[in-house]
Amino acid sequence: MSGQGRAGAVARRRVGTIEVVALGDGELDIAASLFGDADPDERTRLARAAGFGGDAIPLSINTFAILTGGRTLLVDAGSGTMRGPTEGFTGRALAAAGIAPDGVDAVLMTHMHGDHAGGLRLASGEAAFPGAELRLARAELAFWSDAALEARMPDRMAPTFANARACFALYGDRVRPFAPGERIAPGVTAVDLPGHTPGHSGFLVEDGGERLLVWADVVHVAAFQFAHPEWTIGFDVDGAAAAATRSRLLAEVSESGLAVAGMHLPFPGFGTVRREAGAYAFAAAATR
Ligand SMILES: [Zn+2]
Repeated sequence: MSGQGRAGAVARRRVGTIEVVALGDGELDIAASLFGDADPDERTRLARAAGFGGDAIPLSINTFAILTGGRTLLVDAGSGTMRGPTEGFTGRALAAAGIAPDGVDAVLMTHMHGDHAGGLRLASGEAAFPGAELRLARAELAFWSDAALEARMPDRMAPTFANARACFALYGDRVRPFAPGERIAPGVTAVDLPGHTPGHSGFLVEDGGERLLVWADVVHVAAFQFAHPEWTIGFDVDGAAAAATRSRLLAEVSESGLAVAGMHLPFPGFGTVRREAGAYAFAAAATR
């Protein structure tokens, strides 16, 4: 591992009386060439400046627990056993944080890609969080439930659709879709951030005058997309919409100073965004 991700690690932060716990699911490598609309020389320059050689860019995978009003919410479930050996350590991190799988009241999904939703199921096929509701945007549920759409998708998407379908069946009547802006729990509100997927969502945590936006996959590669918010990753369902969401949000949070938490920012993924050189820069926050 490069140090971007921290498998099984835990870092805590308070938002008023609410506790937000970053959980290290691990790390994955993506190809820099997935940013197909980026200038290749600039891509290489930024990768080298960040200390990454070659085409492989290491990304942290972070999940978060939110402890609010006596409820334990998990935001995303990580990769589980769906992907490589450097991923899928959210369960270990939860144990280190003192949270049992059956103590999770709800899993809030930012979207249903495998590095976020693989961990909803155990290798045995059982639900990883047997008492939890599965909350996701109505648009996200509709997209991954659409068999006609699935039939038109490239083959590489098949495992993602299959996992989503299996999870919806497994959590059954505990699957509860939400609308944009819906209040999910005390101090937790869903935020519509479309583009990466149709129902891609963040969660705004607010208490006692403090706020934190868990912004999911608004930025995949910090070394690239704060400097170039217009660069889109090949996994985006709608790259133009994803870039528009990112540009709007970076302008907003750099203006307001709103703290953010990202699923692929270097672990633990907490920080703030500032304007820099006509674009943006990320400042990681200290945690305990
Ligand atoms: Zn992701």
